[in-house]
Amino acid sequence: SFDEIYLKANIRAVHNWPKEGVTFRDITPLLQQPKPFRMVIDALTQRYINHDIDRIAAIDSRGFLIGSVLAYNLNKPLILVRKKDKLPPPVISESYDLEYGAATVEIQEGSCNAGDKVLIVDDIIATGGTMMAASTLLKSQGAEVFEAAALIDLPDLNGSTLLQNIGIGVYSLCAFE
Ligand code: 5GP
Repeated sequence: SFDEIYLKANIRAVHNWPKEGVTFRDITPLLQQPKPFRMVIDALTQRYINHDIDRIAAIDSRGFLIGSVLAYNLNKPLILVRKKDKLPPPVISESYDLEYGAATVEIQEGSCNAGDKVLIVDDIIATGGTMMAASTLLKSQGAEVFEAAALIDLPDLNGSTLLQNIGIGVYSLCAFE
């Protein structure tokens, strides 16, 4: 079964970055070693391989690293959920609040079809704002969110609870309290 302790040992805590009081979870050590990276991809592949998923939506930019490999393994189309002004038009945009300020994510128009079941993938669920905005974009196109998957959940920030409360299932491989 999945070794959560081994996974967590390969994620670095960076204290007081990007600002005072925040502990940033750095997945670089995981990417630098084939063993934990393969373990993550294999676990996600096993979870979703026998499900009726039409597309994978990966979130800019660390979500791309996981989502693209998963899309390859599952042989599914990949949707890029990008930060503002990265995708060429036509795009649709969704803005959301951050702790300070706001952010905007975009998908290209026509990147999914009505009725598609889409799995959203990112590295971390913190406040859930990014997953929520991605979900709003997909639903605006008539798609359904199959689940929101992340390597890491930060449950103290309540994002995964928030997502579950609005009917979006959440799956994470580990959590840091
Ligand atoms: P949320 O929108 O859930 O508050 O934040 C999640 C987004 O912010 C993800 O796209 C994630 O990449 C980024 N993020 C927030 N905190 C961290 C962190 O501690 N480590 C990493 N790697 N990404 C973070």
